[in-house]
Amino acid sequence: MQHKLRNLVIVLGDQLNEDATALLDFDPAQDAVWMAEVAQESTYVPSAKQRTTLFLSAMRHFAAHLEQRGLPVMYTTLDAPDNAGTLAGELEKAIVRTRPDKLVMTAPGEWRVLDALRHIARKHALVLEVRDDTHFFCTVRDFAAHAKDRKQLRMEFFYREIRKKTGILMDGKLPIGGEWNFDAENRGSFGKHGPGEIPPPSRFAPDSITRDVIALVNKRFADHPGSVETFGWPVNRRDALQALADFIAHRLPRFGLYQDAMWTGEAWLYHALISSSLNLKLLNPREVISAAEAAYHNGSAPLAAVEGFIRQILGWREYVRGIYWTHMPAYADHNALNALQPLPEWYWTGDTNMSCLRNAIQQTLTHGYAHHIQRLMVTGLYALLLGVEPRQVHQWYLAVYVDAVEWVELPNTLGMGQFADGGIMASKPYVASGKYIDRMSNYCKSCPFDPAQATGPKACPFTTLYWNFLDTHADTLAKNPRMLMQLKNLNRLSPDTRAAISTQAQTHRAAPAIENPHPPSA
Ligand SMILES: Cc1cc2nc3c(=O)[nH]c(=O)nc-3n(C[C@H](O)[C@H](O)[C@H](O)COP(=O)(O)OP(=O)(O)OC[C@H]3O[C@@H](n4cnc5c(N)ncnc54)[C@H](O)[C@@H]3O)c2cc1C
Ligand code: SF4
Repeated sequence: MQHKLRNLVIVLGDQLNEDATALLDFDPAQDAVWMAEVAQESTYVPSAKQRTTLFLSAMRHFAAHLEQRGLPVMYTTLDAPDNAGTLAGELEKAIVRTRPDKLVMTAPGEWRVLDALRHIARKHALVLEVRDDTHFFCTVRDFAAHAKDRKQLRMEFFYREIRKKTGILMDGKLPIGGEWNFDAENRGSFGKHGPGEIPPPSRFAPDSITRDVIALVNKRFADHPGSVETFGWPVNRRDALQALADFIAHRLPRFGLYQDAMWTGEAWLYHALISSSLNLKLLNPREVISAAEAAYHNGSAPLAAVEGFIRQILGWREYVRGIYWTHMPAYADHNALNALQPLPEWYWTGDTNMSCLRNAIQQTLTHGYAHHIQRLMVTGLYALLLGVEPRQVHQWYLAVYVDAVEWVELPNTLGMGQFADGGIMASKPYVASGKYIDRMSNYCKSCPFDPAQATGPKACPFTTLYWNFLDTHADTLAKNPRMLMQLKNLNRLSPDTRAAISTQAQTHRAAPAIENPHPPSA
């Protein structure tokens, strides 16, 4: 493409929707789409093989779709001989080659990328027109207006505001069913007989594009975490719509009740498995929410399940995006609890004898997926209680999950998981002892440790570290009324018990890499 362009339209790997604002006024006679696969996006954190495969395959499918529709696409593959290796470097080459009047893009999902692209635009004295991402219900300005003058942000109030504004699950001015939130009905566990038969989710056999990408990823990123043999994620809109329809028909009715439950060897349970499709923009949250609302109205799913599901997307998903963009770039540096431990090496292998962590990590490395409670109350909780430096925890979550894009991953990890932002995102640290994991799963049944014990050879590391966490941070936590009950329980422990717990916690912190009698089976 030698002629001068009007608009060079930048499409990033998580912007794979035809209705993106960047493409609204696209004129094939004057404009071109620019897409690039670059190594840096897979190496600035060591992106897991499943994650890189998903992004590259979905990008290739989307580029082929645009070309079929007659849009000119300039596409650089990862193995192109002159690939510059960075988005900025590749964009710069395209600018020199096409001399566009203007760069156009939809707002990206990562501050780092926006900063790098702005820098290139300035260097070439080009306007970079960044358009709102209308995939979301709320603009960053809407969120900032909501946040203005509020001392304390809370997801629940934000969520109610959008429900009123959109009329979703509303009956006039009131919430359908008379309550805003049915969370109390959504905390079931499976009991000792386990989950029984669960309708298996739609998984998609790799087509030739995905198979090519898998070969490329296995060659180029051989030492990156996880494996890609089980890859079955939606890589195009058709598959994503099928995955959504399958969830609504078969798993949504029990989603609410078992949202927090975990079970050995069961990765999918009643979850939707659509976060990667939403984050790559293969699905629009409006169509997801409409499908769930319709299931309630036609009687195929109960209100508690539907409201619980919609709250995750209309509430949490929009809320974390607002937090990210109103607090970046400083947000990534928060470390409110001054946590400095290194992330244990076995987070990258799952090679630990703590059964809950082994299960959650091995499943993550096998599929690029773990559900919310596995992320929050197993891998996240352990890192928080151990005192791992939040940046290292963030890098792990960004690397290993197929749905990881920084705008959603960072506030969830740093804010919700690690309380490193000191309470911007969550009203209190999510901390519990091993007894919580025992209640919500069967992991403890196959573990050498006992969740009820805080000291001694069989002490559960979660339980030891939980009490030690409360003890260590008691002064800070005492300012938070929501922590008072947990601190009251701490104060019931005798000084001798507290001292013994402290010693055991220090010993564990010094050597958390416990030998695993069960090598990873991933
Ligand atoms: C430490 C930590 C890191 C996380 N990192 C990510 C991430 O990188 N990308 C990501 O999309 N989600 C992340 N989450 C949120 C959540 O765990 C995943 O969205 C969810 O597990 C995806 O699986 P699912 O599609 O089966 O979701 P379901 O459990 O079926 O929920 C339905 C949908 O709700 C949305 N959702 C649910 N919880 C959240 C949340 N807390 N924030 C934003 N959206 C939410 C997702 O789009 C999800 O697809 C993280 C959570 C924690 C605690
Ligand atoms: S006993 Fe503790 S370490 Fe073992 S599975 Fe239960 S919570 Fe995890």
